[in-house]
Amino acid sequence: ALMITDECINCDVCEPECPNEAISLGPEIYQIAPERCTECVGHFDEPQCVQVCPVACIPVDPKRVESRETLWAKYRRLVAEA
Ligand code: SF4
Ligand code: SF4
Repeated sequence: ALMITDECINCDVCEPECPNEAISLGPEIYQIAPERCTECVGHFDEPQCVQVCPVACIPVDPKRVESRETLWAKYRRLVAEA
Protein backbone atom coordinates (compact mmCIF):
# COMPACT_ATOMS: atom_id res chain seq x y z
CA ALA A 1 0.00 0.00 0.00
CA LEU A 2 1.02 3.59 -0.56
CA MET A 3 1.01 6.30 2.12
CA ILE A 4 0.65 10.06 2.18
CA THR A 5 3.42 11.94 3.99
CA ASP A 6 3.12 15.17 5.97
CA GLU A 7 4.23 17.07 2.87
CA CYS A 8 0.62 16.81 1.69
CA ILE A 9 -0.85 20.25 0.93
CA ASN A 10 -4.50 19.08 1.07
CA CYS A 11 -5.10 19.96 -2.57
CA ASP A 12 -7.73 17.16 -2.91
CA VAL A 13 -6.80 16.15 -6.47
CA CYS A 14 -5.89 12.56 -5.54
CA GLU A 15 -9.07 11.60 -3.71
CA PRO A 16 -11.42 11.44 -6.73
CA GLU A 17 -8.80 9.60 -8.82
CA CYS A 18 -8.60 6.55 -6.55
CA PRO A 19 -10.47 3.59 -8.08
CA ASN A 20 -10.76 1.92 -4.66
CA GLU A 21 -12.01 4.87 -2.60
CA ALA A 22 -8.96 4.41 -0.40
CA ILE A 23 -8.17 8.12 0.03
CA SER A 24 -9.92 10.43 2.47
CA LEU A 25 -9.24 13.61 4.39
CA GLY A 26 -7.85 12.74 7.81
CA PRO A 27 -7.56 14.95 10.92
CA GLU A 28 -4.87 17.14 9.29
CA ILE A 29 -3.94 15.80 5.87
CA TYR A 30 -5.21 13.27 3.38
CA GLN A 31 -4.69 9.62 4.21
CA ILE A 32 -4.79 6.23 2.49
CA ALA A 33 -6.65 3.26 3.99
CA PRO A 34 -4.06 0.52 3.43
CA GLU A 35 -6.64 -2.26 3.34
CA ARG A 36 -8.20 -0.57 0.28
CA CYS A 37 -5.03 0.49 -1.58
CA THR A 38 -4.02 -2.01 -4.27
CA GLU A 39 -1.40 0.43 -5.62
CA CYS A 40 -3.97 0.59 -8.45
CA VAL A 41 -3.36 -3.07 -9.40
CA GLY A 42 -6.50 -4.34 -11.13
CA HIS A 43 -7.39 -0.88 -12.45
CA PHE A 44 -4.39 0.97 -13.87
CA ASP A 45 -0.75 0.41 -14.80
CA GLU A 46 0.41 3.23 -12.52
CA PRO A 47 -0.84 4.47 -9.15
CA GLN A 48 -3.26 7.23 -10.09
CA CYS A 49 -2.73 9.29 -6.94
CA VAL A 50 1.01 9.42 -7.59
CA GLN A 51 0.34 10.55 -11.16
CA VAL A 52 -1.69 13.58 -10.06
CA CYS A 53 -0.06 14.63 -6.76
CA PRO A 54 1.64 18.01 -7.32
CA VAL A 55 4.10 17.62 -4.46
CA ALA A 56 5.09 13.94 -4.87
CA CYS A 57 4.25 12.99 -1.30
CA ILE A 58 2.84 9.47 -1.90
CA PRO A 59 5.53 6.77 -1.50
CA VAL A 60 5.13 3.06 -0.81
CA ASP A 61 4.52 2.62 2.90
CA PRO A 62 7.73 0.93 4.11
CA LYS A 63 5.70 -0.89 6.76
CA ARG A 64 3.30 -2.24 4.12
CA VAL A 65 5.40 -3.42 1.21
CA GLU A 66 3.27 -5.90 -0.76
CA SER A 67 3.95 -8.19 -3.72
CA ARG A 68 1.94 -7.87 -6.93
CA GLU A 69 0.31 -11.17 -6.03
CA THR A 70 -0.83 -9.80 -2.68
CA LEU A 71 -2.12 -6.64 -4.32
CA TRP A 72 -4.09 -8.73 -6.86
CA ALA A 73 -5.59 -10.74 -4.00
CA LYS A 74 -6.63 -7.49 -2.30
CA TYR A 75 -8.17 -6.26 -5.56
CA ARG A 76 -10.19 -9.46 -5.91
CA ARG A 77 -11.38 -9.19 -2.30
CA LEU A 78 -12.51 -5.59 -2.84
CA VAL A 79 -14.38 -6.53 -6.02
CA ALA A 80 -16.10 -9.40 -4.21
CA GLU A 81 -17.18 -7.05 -1.42
CA ALA A 82 -18.58 -4.44 -3.81
FE1 SF4 B 1 -5.90 4.62 -4.57
FE2 SF4 B 1 -4.30 3.67 -6.43
FE3 SF4 B 1 -3.46 5.65 -4.86
FE4 SF4 B 1 -3.78 3.22 -3.82
S1 SF4 B 1 -2.31 3.80 -5.43
S2 SF4 B 1 -4.50 5.12 -2.93
S3 SF4 B 1 -5.51 2.43 -4.99
S4 SF4 B 1 -5.11 5.76 -6.35
FE1 SF4 C 1 -2.12 15.65 -0.62
FE2 SF4 C 1 -0.89 14.99 -2.91
FE3 SF4 C 1 -3.41 14.17 -2.42
FE4 SF4 C 1 -2.91 16.74 -2.91
S1 SF4 C 1 -2.63 15.04 -4.35
S2 SF4 C 1 -4.25 15.92 -1.29
S3 SF4 C 1 -0.92 17.02 -1.93
S4 SF4 C 1 -1.55 13.60 -1.28
